Amino acid sequence: MAVATTEYALFINGEPAEPASGEVRELREPASGDPLARAAMGGEADVDRAVDAARAALAGPWGKTPGTERSRLLHALADAIVANRKELAELESRNVGKAISSVKAEIAGATEHFRYYASAIASIAGRSNPIGGSLLFYSQKEPVGVAGQIVPWNYPLLMATWKLAPALAAGCSVVLKPDPQTPLSVLRVAELAGEVGFPPGVINVVPGDGPTIGAYLVKHPGVDKVAFTGSTKTGGEIMRLCSDPIKRLTLELGGKSPNLVFADANLADAIPSSVWAIYYAAGQSCEARSRLLVEQSMYDDVVAQVTDLSQKVKVGDPLDAETQMGSLISTAHREKVHGFVDSAREEGAEVTTGGSIGEGAGAFYPPTVIAQAGNRMLAAQEEIFGPVVTVIPFDDEADAIRIANDVKYGLMATVWTGDPAKGHRIASKIKSGTVGINMPYTAFPGIPFGGYKQSGFGRELALETLDLYLETKSVVTYTGSRPTNPFGL
Ligand code: NAD
Repeated sequence: MAVATTEYALFINGEPAEPASGEVRELREPASGDPLARAAMGGEADVDRAVDAARAALAGPWGKTPGTERSRLLHALADAIVANRKELAELESRNVGKAISSVKAEIAGATEHFRYYASAIASIAGRSNPIGGSLLFYSQKEPVGVAGQIVPWNYPLLMATWKLAPALAAGCSVVLKPDPQTPLSVLRVAELAGEVGFPPGVINVVPGDGPTIGAYLVKHPGVDKVAFTGSTKTGGEIMRLCSDPIKRLTLELGGKSPNLVFADANLADAIPSSVWAIYYAAGQSCEARSRLLVEQSMYDDVVAQVTDLSQKVKVGDPLDAETQMGSLISTAHREKVHGFVDSAREEGAEVTTGGSIGEGAGAFYPPTVIAQAGNRMLAAQEEIFGPVVTVIPFDDEADAIRIANDVKYGLMATVWTGDPAKGHRIASKIKSGTVGINMPYTAFPGIPFGGYKQSGFGRELALETLDLYLETKSVVTYTGSRPTNPFGL
């Protein structure tokens, strides 16, 4: 099926908008190098227009829209995504180079996410009079205002949805900045939001470069709250920008997640699941389990099995339904990934499969296994963000926990063991936002997702995410006679 259009404008105040900057970029498919679309890039004047539209929406009907209506609109947007899922899936797959089977699952996840927050609106409530006596107190929840949201290229629509859904449920309006390489799917979804009845100005999308337009959005005085998903390095810069003027901030950052395989694990489940957990999205996932920690007694066996399965992963045309792994986002990114593999070789590790750049067009990189590795190697400490797994041996439970926690990140971990009590014991000692026990999947609507340590702060996907987009206002008065104040007045 053909993608509907190849020209993409900005989306401001409920309609496509030409960029004041006049900048339009040609986007190419990373898997083939072929032209895909021409996309407008915003400048500062465009961010100004988008923030003005978002503020006007809050001051207008959107600011008075009750939760029941916001809920209906979120369901209507989910329905529209379902109705257009084939077009969206092809668009996303071609734009990111990712296998269409994966993209279809992500679009289904995005839909469920809008539905989850459509229901979660019912939980937005204040409290009243917990003290009693003649003091009357109640609290009410108010939207925090205009949310400036910045998302990366690895899951363009899903990451945007994780941010849009709770913000809209809370009654905020949004200016979203996608990565300039991958703005297409969220621009289309913003258009669908207008078609199903979201008022103009509630959702604005301004693609553009991070250090210029992203930073400008973060610092914009009309933006009340910043929500960012991206690298830890950029997260630090955004945190600094949010200190003056002070802004509310949540950060979803990088990871170097461990996957612990104990000798008592069911290997028939653990091995293919571990292979999936690194190569899904070609390893370009924050939660990619990129460090495979294996109990020493079975290390060689696990390396052999993972190497064998890695060679069987179907890599190829992202639009082929049989493809399991597409290309990386760009050849420039592939160079970085390959650099980490070379660094591991230089540090004495053994690459048992993959680890080389093949001929032909497209930013493909093969599933790659680094064995005989230590946890202090560069490839084990830094986020590679590609299809590269580093396999590290451990001696016992304490050693496994020590190695698992010995990175600056703390986003995700998976434990494979046949002993449930041991699984829970280890989960309690791992410093990460999510721990899976004999379970590789990570993100579900309703289950908090986010980081410890330098993987960020704040949780997405969950009920508590709503609070990140709400202010709590306390209202107090006396119902009886008021005591005199210390001034005797
Ligand atoms: P990145 O930090 O380079 O860019 C992310 C976004 O920030 C892009 O839209 C970019 O244009 C923008 N940006 C860059 N510099 C900026 C600045 N100075 N001010 C404002 N905006 C700026 O990250 P990336 O390489 O595009 O994305 C991959 C990273 O995202 C990985 O580290 C990955 O782990 C992380 N990630 C985290 C999660 C999570 O939920 N924790 C999910 C997906 C991706």
